[in-house]
Amino acid sequence: ITKIAVMTSGGDAPGMNAAVRSVVRTCAYHELECVGIHRGYDGMIEGDFIPLDARSVRGIINKGGTFLKSARCERFRTTDGRQIAHNQMVKAGVDALVVIGGDGTFTGALHFNAEFDFPVIGIPGTIDNDISGTDRTLGYDTALNTAVDAIDKIRDTAHSHDRLFFVEVMGRDVGHIALNAGVGAGAEEILIPEEDMGIERLVESLQRSKISGKSSSIVVVAEGDKIGKSVFELKDYVDDNLEGYDVRVSVLGHMQRGGSPTCYDRVLASRMGVKAVESLIEGKSNYMVGTIHDTMTLTPLEQAIKGESKINKELIRVSEIMTT
Ligand code: ATP
Repeated sequence: ITKIAVMTSGGDAPGMNAAVRSVVRTCAYHELECVGIHRGYDGMIEGDFIPLDARSVRGIINKGGTFLKSARCERFRTTDGRQIAHNQMVKAGVDALVVIGGDGTFTGALHFNAEFDFPVIGIPGTIDNDISGTDRTLGYDTALNTAVDAIDKIRDTAHSHDRLFFVEVMGRDVGHIALNAGVGAGAEEILIPEEDMGIERLVESLQRSKISGKSSSIVVVAEGDKIGKSVFELKDYVDDNLEGYDVRVSVLGHMQRGGSPTCYDRVLASRMGVKAVESLIEGKSNYMVGTIHDTMTLTPLEQAIKGESKINKELIRVSEIMTT
């Protein structure tokens, strides 16, 4: 291998810049060339490449977003699109690829490898933590801290006005952000897709809280939770069935995807970038780098995509005890 390309794809996540920086500097360390691909697979198809050396990634370890930009690319889902992308890579002299993204990005990378025998390594970059083969995905820790900070602020105003707040957090089909931010911010209830609480039990529980003397409450709702069709329908139901609370909704939204990465995410990004490049040098392909029990690991991409839920049952139990 002489020239590695790196790109960010799918939803952005804090720490992606730090991961690109790490890939670039590890290439420099091993005297390999490195190019960045702008806008994910879109840029690969269009040949939108930029040479990157160690100095060109200065000052970005603390920056949210991704300076390479990210995109969703329909053309890469077709064999024709991937053929054009491969032609561009060959033309640019690139012979290996590091992709930073989520399961969609990894699926695209697997197709690309299968069709052209092109070496690929994935770095899990998504705030949702919905990928197995790593304790944490890149950006998840930052998103969690952003969510906790926001919930703390909402609690201040909830308390002042004796309000019940439903706070919706991101996480797509998994409840990692909701469960951890909920426990961390001391929420009264936490609704996650992995555990169906049922709307009746929620109302009963809030009723009990009210009777026990609580005048304000925070319910953290994962965006993928199915108990109400939406957090607004949940609010309407509770409004209609629970006396004495002024009920409000706050959807945290995309603020959770932005911001300066936490130290944890910066360090994780640095470690993952090194592991990704050195795995390619060792001739490995079709793996995702991750950390399990703080040790760097490689998991077949296929397994990372199809992985089982890794929600922490012990933490669910802790949350039940804490919300008593
Ligand atoms: P996030 O988890 O943040 O959404 P992601 O990587 O899963 O990130 P997607 O939009 O699902 O985000 O995928 C990113 C890109 O990967 C897509 O826009 C597409 O170009 C490519 N991709 C996804 N699925 C496939 C597929 N089945 N075949 C080829 N390419 C794919």
